[in-house]
Amino acid sequence: MTAKLEHSKQEDILLFINGEFVRSASGETFENINPYTNEKINDVESGSRADIDKAVEAASVAFHRTWKTIKRSERMSYMYRIADMIDQRIEEIAYFESLDTGLPIKQTRKMVSRASQNFRFYANMAESRLVGEAYQVDDQFINYTIRTPIGVAGLITPWNAPFMLETWKVAPALATGNTVVLKPAEFSPLTANVLAEVVAEAGLPNGVFNVVHGFGETAGDALVRHPDVPLISFTGETVTGKTIIKNSADHLKDCSMELGGKSPIIVFDDADFERALDAAIWGIFSFNGERCTANSRLFLQEGIKDKFMEALKKRVEHVKIGDPLDDATEVGPLIHTEHYDKVTSYFNIAEEEGAEVITRPIPESLQAGNFVAPTLIVHAENSMRVAQEEIFGPVLTVMTFQDEEEAIRLANQIDYGLAGYVWTNDMKKGHRVAHQIDAGMIWVNSQNVRDLRIPFGGMKASGIGREGGHYAFDFYTEQKVIHVAISDHPIPQFGK
Ligand code: NAD
Repeated sequence: MTAKLEHSKQEDILLFINGEFVRSASGETFENINPYTNEKINDVESGSRADIDKAVEAASVAFHRTWKTIKRSERMSYMYRIADMIDQRIEEIAYFESLDTGLPIKQTRKMVSRASQNFRFYANMAESRLVGEAYQVDDQFINYTIRTPIGVAGLITPWNAPFMLETWKVAPALATGNTVVLKPAEFSPLTANVLAEVVAEAGLPNGVFNVVHGFGETAGDALVRHPDVPLISFTGETVTGKTIIKNSADHLKDCSMELGGKSPIIVFDDADFERALDAAIWGIFSFNGERCTANSRLFLQEGIKDKFMEALKKRVEHVKIGDPLDDATEVGPLIHTEHYDKVTSYFNIAEEEGAEVITRPIPESLQAGNFVAPTLIVHAENSMRVAQEEIFGPVLTVMTFQDEEEAIRLANQIDYGLAGYVWTNDMKKGHRVAHQIDAGMIWVNSQNVRDLRIPFGGMKASGIGREGGHYAFDFYTEQKVIHVAISDHPIPQFGK
């Protein structure tokens, strides 16, 4: 395996079109940078409209010739094979993911095993829940529904959990009979090509799965505007999502939008103190704070705020930053220098707004990487930019509240509505508050653990539509109703 790792590290990252790894039509490349060293890992072929055209053509042919018509059992056997092959390569894929993104390897291993589950889960789901309904209308008609695949799905993904999020879209798209053109994030291209290798080795027909690397404004935009791509599933920033919806409007595409978040965690006086503390810390500092469902706004009830803040500061001081490939690391470097600049710019913004920033210096040995120490912003107000804007780094904004009514009001005073977390030992209150927070997903006395069967997605500026479970089928399939007469019902006889 080591030889393979070394080899792949030096290789350029090619596009994967119609079952082959190929160079881009323009011959242009861009550098892929290691966030821990800021040294180049390799060059990446920069796809553009011509490459998207080729990939969509291949996906379109594969859709009509094979993928939409092959037997379901055959399609599912490919899915299970992909899952098994990912499982055999967990260590290698986790290594690439950490190298590419700076995410700690202990966390990327778990993300990769989620990726194989995504394939197994959607194979299972398509077998059991890809169903229609039938309605008998008296003794005259039967109306029934079927679900059909739609065509080429354009999947556009971010860099914060690349392999897991790519497979989260690829698996339901393929299981339902669509073919795929994937445009991975330019900051994290490595593992999408491992998925392409797996797909090729699993023997999927050429063209069923394609990868075009490149920038959002070129490769991504060409996919969004392509007339033969009826579906766009996007995960990324809210502002990008808005642009994509506008640019896809001429072709009236179906768009699934998984967007940004700034999620509240509300800790009541009567909460299980230690568990709430663990959850608040994990929820913001895992995945280097680059997590869409991160609890980035902490609301503490007045009665526990002093004790909680004291414990929080002590723990945060000891969260271990370091080499993402070291098993002991809890927080690694941010994805890119551009993102580092964005995250750290909020420290000045916080101070200008009158809040206090509690952070710590980065040791000399880590200066080459894009490290931001786990940081608390205290004495903050909910109206401040640091409480309203998605920072997307290891930065927790802390505020206080008096009572239930105020907690709900503050939690909802924001454009986003992805997730929310409530900690209380009064279960009536827990449910009440959960029902009133405007967010797609609320956890009560729980960290962010999620069963794949439930819907995933956000409200307000955090998204449109739901992925996950059978809910993804509403996006990846077209519902068709067939009306059948089973008796000679009256038909008006015009002109007789
Ligand atoms: P981003 O919006 O900058 O980029 C995401 C993808 O969109 C990339 O592949 C990029 O190349 C592409 N893109 C950019 N401009 C485009 C355009 N004009 N047309 C087509 N494609 C374009 O997001 P990011 O910085 O990579 O990811 C971080 C964001 O993702 C955060 O806001 C985070 O909250 C969000 N996110 C949301 C979820 C969720 O499920 N709601 C999950 C993970 C991440």
